[in-house]
Amino acid sequence: MKRVFVLASILLLSACIFGGGDSGTGPRRPGAPHSKPHLKAAKSGIPTDAETRQCYASLNRKRVEFRSLPDRGTPGSCSRIGTIQLLDIGTPVTNLGAMRCGLADRFVNWVRYGIRPAARQILGSDVVKIESFGTYSCRGIVGNGTASRLSEHAVADAVDIAAFDLADGRRISVLEGWNSDNQQVRAFLRVVHRSACKRFSTTLGPEYNSAHRNHFHIDMGGGHFCR
Ligand SMILES: [Zn+2]
Repeated sequence: MKRVFVLASILLLSACIFGGGDSGTGPRRPGAPHSKPHLKAAKSGIPTDAETRQCYASLNRKRVEFRSLPDRGTPGSCSRIGTIQLLDIGTPVTNLGAMRCGLADRFVNWVRYGIRPAARQILGSDVVKIESFGTYSCRGIVGNGTASRLSEHAVADAVDIAAFDLADGRRISVLEGWNSDNQQVRAFLRVVHRSACKRFSTTLGPEYNSAHRNHFHIDMGGGHFCR
């Protein structure tokens, strides 16, 4: 019975997604989600329209500039559902593509209340640019041998952060800074990592495995994991 229901939901969802009629990727007004109200019966983890609307409102309150993106793909495979692209959050961030709105909303808070204050307090300089390795990517999990499970990147619910450029000209990278001789640099990266652990479901860094020696991976998948 349950299986039939899930199947029906997926079919309904596919019909809506590929049924078309969705257009426009311009800046969004509050309360105007991109997708039609058809995601109510979606698989767990897929944002509902109501959640996406609330998320837009939250970003608007923070004076964040963003654009909503059209839904692509189906749950259970590579998909971008309820995603946006951050255009201006006050600090330039490179390589930001599609992100689920909830991830983007938390990411803004991390930058503003975690990363920037930490740089000022510990390194005595402002972060003027954050270097990302990207967000959406249709692939399995890397670094665990067999890539049997889809990465959270494959549903646009993850972002990889590699380095922080400071106003004084320094570039603090996860690769060179994590085990740096400079105590302040080490402390800064650890504070930023800990701050991510408080805000996101999963935070992975150089202590997790060698695939993460050069970036922090953060995502909003199920459970909680911080390493
Ligand atoms: Zn990642």
